[in-house]
Amino acid sequence: LLEELENCGVFGLWSGKGPVVEQIYYGIFKLQHRGQRYCGIATWDGSIRLITHAGFVRHSFSLQDFHYLTGNLGIAHVSLKELQPMVFHSRLGSYALAFSGNIINRELLRHKLFQAGHAFSTETDTEILGRILSQGKTILDGFQQIYRLVKGSFSLVVLTPRGVYAARDIHGFKPLILGRSGRKLAVSSESRPFDLLGLKIVRDVRPGEIVLLNGDGIKSIWQAAEVRPAFCAFEWGYIASVDSVIDGVPVIRARHNFGIKLARRDEAENLKVDIVSPVPFSGIGCALGYHHYSEVPYQESFLIDRFASRSYTPLVQEEREKEARIKLSVIKDNVRRQRIVLCDDSIVRGTQIRNKVLELKRAGARAVHVRIACPPLIAPCRYSISTRSYEELVALKYSVEGICRLIGADSLKYNTMEDFVEAIGLPPEKLCLSCWTGKYL
Ligand code: SF4
Repeated sequence: LLEELENCGVFGLWSGKGPVVEQIYYGIFKLQHRGQRYCGIATWDGSIRLITHAGFVRHSFSLQDFHYLTGNLGIAHVSLKELQPMVFHSRLGSYALAFSGNIINRELLRHKLFQAGHAFSTETDTEILGRILSQGKTILDGFQQIYRLVKGSFSLVVLTPRGVYAARDIHGFKPLILGRSGRKLAVSSESRPFDLLGLKIVRDVRPGEIVLLNGDGIKSIWQAAEVRPAFCAFEWGYIASVDSVIDGVPVIRARHNFGIKLARRDEAENLKVDIVSPVPFSGIGCALGYHHYSEVPYQESFLIDRFASRSYTPLVQEEREKEARIKLSVIKDNVRRQRIVLCDDSIVRGTQIRNKVLELKRAGARAVHVRIACPPLIAPCRYSISTRSYEELVALKYSVEGICRLIGADSLKYNTMEDFVEAIGLPPEKLCLSCWTGKYL
């Protein structure tokens, strides 16, 4: 599955002393998989300094940018959708805001803010959040207004002279995690930047919680009374990196478990195969889990072209498919005359996996049994910007047997919802499963 969702990654750092820009840069570099179209960094050094770019983190920031972004606290963002952070100058002072999520009632909120005298310079959800925040008597009051008014999802970071604020909506849809090393404090969409920066995980920001990172440490400054956790299960299925820990569950553990569950079912049916392979990257953990349980040899069938990186993520479907063809080439010698279990995270339209099955068969594979970590996708996401529509979802048009025929596989199995949830290891009532149930909160 190639970048079906538009997501974002946020990062914030309070360093105690010394400039933060290089560490923040590496923070969002390690979140690049969450969004490749835009990136930005804001720091505080007596005033807010902001630089945003189109493109990859690694290719975008220059030495001059680093010299300009002075200060010992800052926030940053990667996105497939828009330039963030955004700066606001208000009666509360100046602040920069970046967020990951999706506001469902944006039209209503824009209208209300408009009526209240706000003028908008962009169409973004970020601006809506920044303007609601500015209406508060204090920053905390502004945050509370966000909680009262905004429907949808937000994991956000706000840079102020007092420190870096971080807040998560009452469902905690999108991850947000705190890290620390001595006086250095960080908040991030995923834990993976912490290893590079020598930080240890402290804990996740709780659904409905606001925290402040500054010289007083990490302080929880407010907690919504009514919360209903609904952590995005697709983070473990596809979005998050395998070296991250989301809400206490290592992503690699969940992905291994997806493979183990699928292997158990194949064992019960006595499926005879020669190798198990992933569609890289998102099928790797599942294929490894399958291999560990079944002892079927793990073998790469596809090579990722390390130079196939893009200057931006294509949003048109044909472009995505072309990208998938360019990115992965078949390792013919590994697949010739083999009966293959091919693991992937999910199927949206079926076109990408159909191409992969076809390529394996053309290369001489005797059989391709497709195994999918997530249950069939039957609904778009409302809590991040989804590029899938109901019309495109193949699982709404065909049965599993029909999809199997469509993609040309010798067999097709998805994890059941029960196995999928068990593999993650959190109670179903704490997860968002809307992609697979079609029921929204
Ligand atoms: S709808 Fe799907 S992708 Fe969106 S938050 Fe829920 S589980 Fe995650």
